[in-house]
Amino acid sequence: MYLLSFLIIPIILVSLFCQLKFAYIIALLCSVAAALFIYAQESLVNVLLTIAIFNLTPLVSIYVSRRVREYKKSLEAKKEKVQATFEKIKQENLVMRQSNARLNEEAFRISELYKITRDMSSVLDMRETFTIFVKKIKELFRFRRCFLVLVNEDAQGLEVDRVFEMQYTQSQANPIDISDSDYQLLKHSLGRHRTSYLEAEDLPKSMRSSHEVESMILVTIMAEGKFLGTLAVENLPCNELESFSLLASQFSLVMKRVRLYEKIQKLAINDGLTGLFVRRYFMERLYEEIQRSSRRNLSLSFLMIDIDHFKKCNDTYGHLTGDAVLKEVARIIKENVREIDLIARFGGEEFSILLPNTDKDGAAYVAERIRSSIDRHKFRAYDEMLKIEVSIGVASFPVDSRTPQSLIDNSDQALYRAKKEGRNRVCTKH
Ligand code: GH3
Ligand code: MG
Ligand code: MG
Repeated sequence: MYLLSFLIIPIILVSLFCQLKFAYIIALLCSVAAALFIYAQESLVNVLLTIAIFNLTPLVSIYVSRRVREYKKSLEAKKEKVQATFEKIKQENLVMRQSNARLNEEAFRISELYKITRDMSSVLDMRETFTIFVKKIKELFRFRRCFLVLVNEDAQGLEVDRVFEMQYTQSQANPIDISDSDYQLLKHSLGRHRTSYLEAEDLPKSMRSSHEVESMILVTIMAEGKFLGTLAVENLPCNELESFSLLASQFSLVMKRVRLYEKIQKLAINDGLTGLFVRRYFMERLYEEIQRSSRRNLSLSFLMIDIDHFKKCNDTYGHLTGDAVLKEVARIIKENVREIDLIARFGGEEFSILLPNTDKDGAAYVAERIRSSIDRHKFRAYDEMLKIEVSIGVASFPVDSRTPQSLIDNSDQALYRAKKEGRNRVCTKH
């Protein structure tokens, strides 16, 4: 009887792997066989039960197999969906990474631009500004040489005013002699686009400073429609052109400011530190005064004052103290001359005085008064007292010289003698 239960196994197998009708044929055959067998030994109920079980088995089996297949399908669909989501996320991640890299690049550019503009804006000197610019581009690119050709704005035609250059290996820009190639460079750059890239073969021979020059980028510098000059860089890779142009345009902007400052300085007649007249204005007045004295037969004297060992003062106490000393010396000089006398800061620590209507003896007297006042004065450097001394050279019109230049030369010679004879003294032209 129990052996009959094993007949269910082929029915299940057929139900799972074959069509439903085969399963039913098998189930029917099995149930008939089992029923006959059971009927011989057992009751009718058992026979009916067996037939029912045998015939229900394929239905159940097929139902289970269908559910399993459906479940598998739904799993597959889920897998595909997850895979699609994964691909989408991967793609989005890539886009994000790319835009992140672009943003980083942009941020770097902006911060570099900010830094270079800040550094360049802190100075008002052309050479310094150029040095800062080249130092910055050295950090970012490789090149051979960078140079700046400036136009003489006061000239009628196109004329080179100054040229600064800095090699990749140098740490400071230097003024260099003007050559014909600089003029050619200006001519080439004038009227062109802001930035132009030239291969060696496109460069006129005169513009190639050496056979090592493979390419050149020229940046035309303009301010309010006026051509200021050209910035040139040799052997900078072409693919860096865009980044370089960005920095170069910033340099152009700063240059406009420096140029303006230079112009204002030129127009100014007072020295920013001491308040005394500047040399250029003083020289104009000296010419006028000599002519006036000559016409009226009057004498005139010129004093050249130089602070003794001033470099040591700077080295020991610093430039700020040095500047304070210069101011104080200027004040003392002013106190010791008349209103009509003209005082100028002639150079760094040199002062010149024009004493109208004063002969040599009178000038030597004034010079000695100035020298002794400075010698007696107690200069202060933080908590210390400083001793400052000056040497003075005196020359007079018309006894020593009749022209402004020889008057200056003679007072210079007298000053040189004062230095040689031990400093802190006044010497007159013999
Ligand atoms: P000497 O007695 O032969 O004149 O010696 P010196 O040291 O005074 O002469 P030197 O010409 O060698 O040095 C002049 C110094 O003056 C060097 C320079 O640094 C300093 N100097 C020039 N202009 C300024 C300025 O505006 N401020 C300060 N603090 N120093 C200046
Ligand atoms: Mg000096
Ligand atoms: Mg000196």
